Amino acid sequence: MKFLSQNPSETKKIGEKIAKKAPLVLALKGDLGAGKTTFLQGYAKGLGVKERITSPTFLILKKFPIKNNYFVHLDCYRIQKSEEIIALGFKEMVNKNFIAVEWPEKIKNILPEKTVFAFFKIIDRNKREIIII
Ligand code: ADP
Ligand code: MG
Repeated sequence: MKFLSQNPSETKKIGEKIAKKAPLVLALKGDLGAGKTTFLQGYAKGLGVKERITSPTFLILKKFPIKNNYFVHLDCYRIQKSEEIIALGFKEMVNKNFIAVEWPEKIKNILPEKTVFAFFKIIDRNKREIIII
């Protein structure tokens, strides 16, 4: 699926729409400021998260309770290797929760095969291309 978002609220709406058929693991790739966290604000809302999603600048992992499990927001920007994510319980989390990973390239050796990828590209100041595969 390919989307062209014209502003942040459109990106959130796309995220919310994708949440209707959320994969267990969604990996979000793209430069800083491309809109990954913005997308996840809508995505989390679509999954039933009540809290607001923010850029976890100092946090690598944040868990939000939803119906029967959790929405887990992982931001791997600051990590060096996937062992750090394993140490946070990644393997126990996967398969029973909805997980979204920013900077998935840092942990590609532990991402499940069925991971769905979302690619974010900055077109200009307010335009973003979002491709979901
Ligand atoms: P990332 O998590 O990829 O680093 P953020 O979602 O934190 O990116 O930030 C995206 C920035 O780009 C925000 O400041 C937002 O206001 C701005 N922006 C401008 N246009 C868009 C758009 N169409 N979609 C998403 N963000 C946008
Ligand atoms: Mg971010």
